[in-house]
Amino acid sequence: MYIGSHVSFNKEQLLASVKEAVGYNANAFMFYTGAPQNTLRSPINDELTNKALNMMKENNILIDNVICHAPYIINLANNTDEDKYKFSQEFLKNEIKRCEKLGVKYIVLHPGSATKLDKLTAINNIINALNNILEESDKIMILLETMAGKGTEIGANMDEIATIINGVVLKDKIGVCLDTCHLNDSGVDINNFDSYLNIFDKYIGIDKIKCVHVNDSKNELGAHKDRHENIGFGTIGFNALLNVICNEKLKDVPKILETPYIEEHAPYKYEIDMIRKKEFNSNLKEDVINN
Ligand code: FE
Ligand code: FE
Ligand code: ZN
Repeated sequence: MYIGSHVSFNKEQLLASVKEAVGYNANAFMFYTGAPQNTLRSPINDELTNKALNMMKENNILIDNVICHAPYIINLANNTDEDKYKFSQEFLKNEIKRCEKLGVKYIVLHPGSATKLDKLTAINNIINALNNILEESDKIMILLETMAGKGTEIGANMDEIATIINGVVLKDKIGVCLDTCHLNDSGVDINNFDSYLNIFDKYIGIDKIKCVHVNDSKNELGAHKDRHENIGFGTIGFNALLNVICNEKLKDVPKILETPYIEEHAPYKYEIDMIRKKEFNSNLKEDVINN
């Protein structure tokens, strides 16, 4: 099982991420190359990267299980402000270069929000942007994340994800990141995850799934809200999430926790431990706070 969480990427860059992940006993992790809510980025420092890669080797963390997440303010769906639309594309091109320097293969991307545009136009904007961004020589794959459907988000159903993938020319550079909270909030019952996977395989292909965000949800099925909850403490529940994590068809895919901190303490070490033991810990929140 490859499991980890999102971790920081500060002045020590990837080395900080690896240190944090190792502290959680994780063998996978996800980072943003800077603050997720802004686009200020510093150049990649090779010395720190080498130290990080060595530490990964020592701790059996494979580079395929390291995921980058693009900042959420990037919006490829809306081209009403041409400068912003171009900036989003430029930023992603640079994010690809940064990931190639780090050796990281997967970049998770929120497809975007239509805002005032109709969905078809928005989807076409995403396709055009991706075709502008991706180049034959790129050594990365952009993973479209399944979204909750909050506001005017694109990617809250399989059809939209499939349409985007179909429109991308360089298909080997496009994949999918499932997010269990988002799926629940978009109306997919995680109790029937196997049937979802079967339909996904028919329309998109299971081999396109390169990352799974494992989160419980604070909201009911189909709420279109997107508020994550700690594993086993939300409306999806521990057993349904464990069934996703241990699914044979996704056994080589890294599972990344994006669950909320508990009173400013990271819960990941405890959640990872609970998941590995395959037994729900109803005292998890107290354990996190008291340690
Ligand atoms: Fe995300
Ligand atoms: Fe996510
Ligand atoms: Zn979310």
